[in-house]
Amino acid sequence: MNELKQKILGCLYGQALGDAWGMPAYFHPEQTWKHYGWITEFLPGPADHEVHAGLPAGRITDDSEQAFSLARAYLKHGSVSIEATVEAIVAWYDRTGGDTSPYVGPSTRRGVQALKAGADPHKAGARGDTNGAAMRVSVIGALHPGDPMGAIEDAAISCIPTHNTSVAMSGACAIAAAIAVALRPDATLDAMVAAGMLGAELGRKKGNYWLGASITRKIEQAVQIARKGTDPLARLWELYEVVGSSLAITETVGTAFGVLIMADGDPKQAATYAANLSGDADTVGAIACAMAGAYKGIGAFEQHILDVLDADPINKTYDIRGLADGIEQYVAQHAK
Ligand SMILES: [Mg+2]
Repeated sequence: MNELKQKILGCLYGQALGDAWGMPAYFHPEQTWKHYGWITEFLPGPADHEVHAGLPAGRITDDSEQAFSLARAYLKHGSVSIEATVEAIVAWYDRTGGDTSPYVGPSTRRGVQALKAGADPHKAGARGDTNGAAMRVSVIGALHPGDPMGAIEDAAISCIPTHNTSVAMSGACAIAAAIAVALRPDATLDAMVAAGMLGAELGRKKGNYWLGASITRKIEQAVQIARKGTDPLARLWELYEVVGSSLAITETVGTAFGVLIMADGDPKQAATYAANLSGDADTVGAIACAMAGAYKGIGAFEQHILDVLDADPINKTYDIRGLADGIEQYVAQHAK
């Protein structure tokens, strides 16, 4: 298998790994640690979990379902477009019973309900300011290996129907750009962080102007915390308390870069740190691990992890390996 294919597969499996590994975590680290101790494996959603009660170990959530739905639609349409994004997200919402599902995020719900009521896709996401824009954008980075500017342009398009705000576009463009750079044969974590900050800066000039901290500065802050000499638990606490791990995209994206650096780019370690950090752990995990997987490639994943993800009936419906084949062909076609 060529190196690019290994990295595309790493990105997609990383997305699913971080999502499923973080799924059982509670919103507060003390709750998570009291319930589980240190999370080091796939675990089921606890019965009293507000969003993931009853989910089996290894189950992906909305983050990966939306990412893979987008990938499927972009491959089918042959490009990243507003129309393909609307088609994928609305179909996903209907498929998962979005009106009553606890895990549709606030911006996606508002956007999809507006779209279903006939709103112009350029207006439906006018107030979408939460982390859904970034949780699903890894696949756009994968469509643009080595081309962060192309990734930034398409990431912004993918935000329009549900997350058409400067803050959401900043977060999505940061992740897409970092993954585009991670897919280079000579990728480094420093280059990924630099691309993330570039994406955050360019992205915040797009969409409706929206209040929010600078994601560029949040990434910088999270990376500084991640590189401290303190023990990992202290650094996770600091990320949780200072950068944050809520649904705010400024927090999620900043913290995901912090987790990536703490883990030195290793997907399983990134999943573990994201899960134990808590907060919106599955989203931080999905983003951090998609970046880590793109950086390290599929060879960095233990076989039993791939086996668990391959066995998950929801994940199976998206056929990660088929998507990776499609992305590889898409990249080859667009390079001509
Ligand atoms: Mg989720």
